[in-house]
Amino acid sequence: MAEQEASGLQVLLSTLQTSRDKDVILNILSVLTDLLSLGTGQRIHYVISKGGSEALLQAFTAAARTEPPDHSTLLPLLRLLARVGQRDRKFGLKVQKAEATDIILSLARRNLGHHLHLTHCLWVLRVCASNVTTGTTLGINGAMELLFKVITPYSKRNVRTVRAAIEALAALLKSKSNSRRAVNRGYLGGLLRLYQDWHHNDVSNNYIYIRRGLLLCLKHITNIQLGRETFLGSRGMEILFTSVQDCLSCKNLDPIITTVTQILRKCYPKEPLPVATVRSSYSFPLPGNARAEPLCEGSEGKWLKGDYESDGEEEAEKDLDNEDVESKEEDYDLETDVNKLRSRPVLDRPEEELGQYEAMCPELSHNFQELESDSEEEKSLEDRTESLPFMPSHFIPSATSVKHPNYRWRNQSVTEMGPDPGQKDFKVPLQSWTKRDRCRWDQTDEKTDIAEAAQDADYYEEEDPARSHVLALRPLPKDAAWYKKMIYPECEALINPSPGGRLESSDIETHLLEKHQGDIPFHSPRFYIARAKRVKSIPDYRDLSFPDFWGHQPPPYSKPMLERKYGVQRDKVLDDVRRLIQPGDVIGRIVFDLDEPSHSSPGAPGCLTFFSKFESGNLRKAIQVREFEYDLIINADVNSNQHHQWFYFEVRDMKLAVPYRFNIINCEKFNSQFNYGMQLVMYSVKEALQGRPCWLRAGHDSCYYKNHYRCSAAAEEGVRGKFYYTLTFSIKFPHKDDVCYLAYHYPYTYSTMMSHLDILEQNRNPKKVYWRQQTLCQTLGGNLCPLLTITAMPESKKRDDLEQFYNRPYVFLVARVHPGESNASWVMKGTLEFLVSSDPIADLLRKCFIFKIVPMLNPDGVINGNHRCSLSGDDLNRQWLTPSSQLHPTIYHTKGLLYYLRSIGRAPLVFCDYHGHSQKKNVFLYGCSIKETLWQAGCMVDTSVITEDVGYRTLPKILDKVAPAFVMNSCSFLVEKSRESTARVVVWKEMGVLRSYTMESTYCGCSHGLYKGLQLGTQELEETGSKFCLGLLILHLKSLPCSEKVMAQATLLLDLEEEITDRAQRSCSNSSLETDDEPPCVEEIDYSTDSYSDGEEDFSELDQEIQECLSCVEGETEDEGATMGQTCSSKALRGLYTSSQPTSNSTALPLCSTALGVYSGFESSPL
Ligand SMILES: [Zn+2]
Repeated sequence: MAEQEASGLQVLLSTLQTSRDKDVILNILSVLTDLLSLGTGQRIHYVISKGGSEALLQAFTAAARTEPPDHSTLLPLLRLLARVGQRDRKFGLKVQKAEATDIILSLARRNLGHHLHLTHCLWVLRVCASNVTTGTTLGINGAMELLFKVITPYSKRNVRTVRAAIEALAALLKSKSNSRRAVNRGYLGGLLRLYQDWHHNDVSNNYIYIRRGLLLCLKHITNIQLGRETFLGSRGMEILFTSVQDCLSCKNLDPIITTVTQILRKCYPKEPLPVATVRSSYSFPLPGNARAEPLCEGSEGKWLKGDYESDGEEEAEKDLDNEDVESKEEDYDLETDVNKLRSRPVLDRPEEELGQYEAMCPELSHNFQELESDSEEEKSLEDRTESLPFMPSHFIPSATSVKHPNYRWRNQSVTEMGPDPGQKDFKVPLQSWTKRDRCRWDQTDEKTDIAEAAQDADYYEEEDPARSHVLALRPLPKDAAWYKKMIYPECEALINPSPGGRLESSDIETHLLEKHQGDIPFHSPRFYIARAKRVKSIPDYRDLSFPDFWGHQPPPYSKPMLERKYGVQRDKVLDDVRRLIQPGDVIGRIVFDLDEPSHSSPGAPGCLTFFSKFESGNLRKAIQVREFEYDLIINADVNSNQHHQWFYFEVRDMKLAVPYRFNIINCEKFNSQFNYGMQLVMYSVKEALQGRPCWLRAGHDSCYYKNHYRCSAAAEEGVRGKFYYTLTFSIKFPHKDDVCYLAYHYPYTYSTMMSHLDILEQNRNPKKVYWRQQTLCQTLGGNLCPLLTITAMPESKKRDDLEQFYNRPYVFLVARVHPGESNASWVMKGTLEFLVSSDPIADLLRKCFIFKIVPMLNPDGVINGNHRCSLSGDDLNRQWLTPSSQLHPTIYHTKGLLYYLRSIGRAPLVFCDYHGHSQKKNVFLYGCSIKETLWQAGCMVDTSVITEDVGYRTLPKILDKVAPAFVMNSCSFLVEKSRESTARVVVWKEMGVLRSYTMESTYCGCSHGLYKGLQLGTQELEETGSKFCLGLLILHLKSLPCSEKVMAQATLLLDLEEEITDRAQRSCSNSSLETDDEPPCVEEIDYSTDSYSDGEEDFSELDQEIQECLSCVEGETEDEGATMGQTCSSKALRGLYTSSQPTSNSTALPLCSTALGVYSGFESSPL
């Protein structure tokens, strides 16, 4: 049946090519016209597949050669060619093959005076030009001159023809040589004038398509540099910018506004960033002769001098920022070498080196003699600790521990501390800076560490007595009256503001500490200060940021993702362009400059004051652009000239109720969750002092787009990309003259972590929780990288209990290798708090595992405000294959410890590295599987011979059920070549750890589950950390042999089945339609490529144009041929196709249905 129909069409097409009979040809054309005017593009594609284009072209060249040309045949042919041609990807080639380009062109020339005929020719010209080669040929043969003659000067006569000509011209200008020709002939200026004429005269917006057609011409011409230069020289920016202002209020004019915005963005003159160098303000001399930041692969040679102005802009961008970015070429990145995928237990160092790590497993040699020494005091201590409620619990400081730590720090001797039960657990494990180098582990001996802590504290203060005065809290809001009222209404007399209106910071600190309620869970400002004083930073911080000192308490509600306001990006871009058009409005005052503090003018009247020189702070420069608008530049990672993403800074001296606009102008990622509902976070000091100390999602009108700044290749060697992006947002501050902090994500500093560990250690129940904090190593910057061991104390020192203790499997957790991923630290915070908590599940979990945890793998990066790297300028999560003991000590020793565990047959059951993901929503795991990788890569390897334990899937499946933010469908178990040196892949391959994962948490929010539509807060992140622990317990119960006792306890605690099915029901209802990637952004963020986003590929437009033209002329007598053709074909059709029918009443049927009866094979149903 289908074959019959196909042959029916083929007969028609071949008759069309061979017949000389005009009636037959007209009939066939009419049938084809009817056929294609119904139904969809699918039908036309079918005709194309059967050689329709070629047949029509052949008939066309034959008809055009007759003298005089027979327009009754030519017009339907041209219409069909236009409709078929625009859908035929190879049409341009077919036109050339049929040698039809010249014929169309000369036919158009002959019909310059006959607008209907001309319009038909122009349609086909336009379609031909969609092939660049054909377009170029047409350009060489004078097509543009012809078209220009048709469209100029401005006239509203024959608008159909003008429209067709403009659209054909736009198509021709896609060819770069045509664009060059057009510029050289002065057409660009002509097009601009014409656009202005149409814009001014089209008051009631009847000719939007003509105006947009002209804009498309300009858009294509300005794809070449000569075009952009000429456009600027012809005042194109001013003309388009001014004209578009009249259009903004009218939604019908969106196509015009969009195209104008694209042109303006593209032509905005490129500039280097307004900094002396993009290299980080901070540099760090590396040990030995190591080179700072090796050149990125492929970066050399890609960089031509001054090429940020070249035509090369269309180059595809490649983001090398691997773990965070889904590469489009993902599948090509898969590791397909089975030998490389197989476990490869090879040591990267001499075996004797492993011996040193024995000291990092004190739990394996501890004899627990102290278990006998139960005393009444300790019982009471236990009671106290037990009474701490389970998370989210509030830290209840004991009277002695928090109120007077200074007393304790300075005056208490070891013997005084020893016997006091209420204080025994208060040990700030200050470790020796000098001893560490001699022997890293000896201070971990539990019996000496209290003593050492005290000694160190003394020693430390002797060493640098000035330092404690140097580090001071940032001054409070300058409004002294408000401050007095807030802080100490009761003793105003005590306050003597200095002449400058600022209060002595030491006084403030003292008073603040008195005021602090100590009600923020697991936070103590005193501990924070104590820890922060010991931090070693490159800029040698002298200031404490208020939020880190005071603490953050998550608000009781979650914030939904920000809805994107219609046209927000367009408005921002036009506002940016205004700087060029109205330069007089631009203030351009540098108000903050990390490199040249003397060059900035902070505190100038009417402008904000910025600051960022504190732990994790990152702001390099702030420029006041307009009264309430600032351009901000963030600092590159230390010893690097890239990785701009993380920011954290202070801003003060704001006015009330004014929306301030901030633009971070040197972002690098090609897209951002800021385009998909994410907000930054803000902390207000006044709010905090009024009892609301929290980081809140803030900012509106957020968007993220490519800007006009380029990295000058000549100035900066080895830069990986040359584009910059703007993150823009507006903020109304909650108070006048407040001090606020803005950050990319909830900050979590190194000192926050260290003081958190102090508090955890203090609050754990030492009878139940085995806790050891040791130092894994010293970082390059001289900071200590802590290593934790957490498990349950043995039940007793009986042999069986000790055996059980020693034989618990290990779980190894690490976090924050990427400093900008503070979300990872919040997840880790949740894990740690759960692990030491008195929750019975935690208790059981501790009995099942020994946890080894490195909570911050990159302390230096976190301290110095880096986003991605360590002080060596290396991404530490790309160093796991061959870490350097000198340059990557934290990785080197973490790997060493893992090697050691494996060497004693104790490789961990689970390894997990906590990260943050900037491009995706939800929380999910990356794991490793040989089979899944080979399948995904489409490898023909016989995977049946590769045996693989699918146990790697169990934990993510459990988490999908128990952790509300977790989404199984977002997980991936593929092994990519580009990730071969990440923790996950190396631990899997070299240590043979089946369950080796990266856990990614979004910066934004969830698209599934309980938190769908909400942005994640610290509470949800912490919950993820504790639920991860719950997941581990369930994994243990499912996969490992358990003692009856454990099983019984577990059954009591967890109604496992119910828990799992309950969550399963919730999750299966919403996880069925998981899409990994975001839908394309509503507004294009990239304007450099000649994208199809402007609807040029919308076939229906030309179809409609043809249809409108036809219906319009059918009533007129002008097109005699067409009317005649119609009559003819109907008559002929009756003869052709109704002969087999018994009666002739089928003539009453509409023509098309008769025809369709023959060709119903095109679609399932003809009508
Ligand atoms: Zn990461």
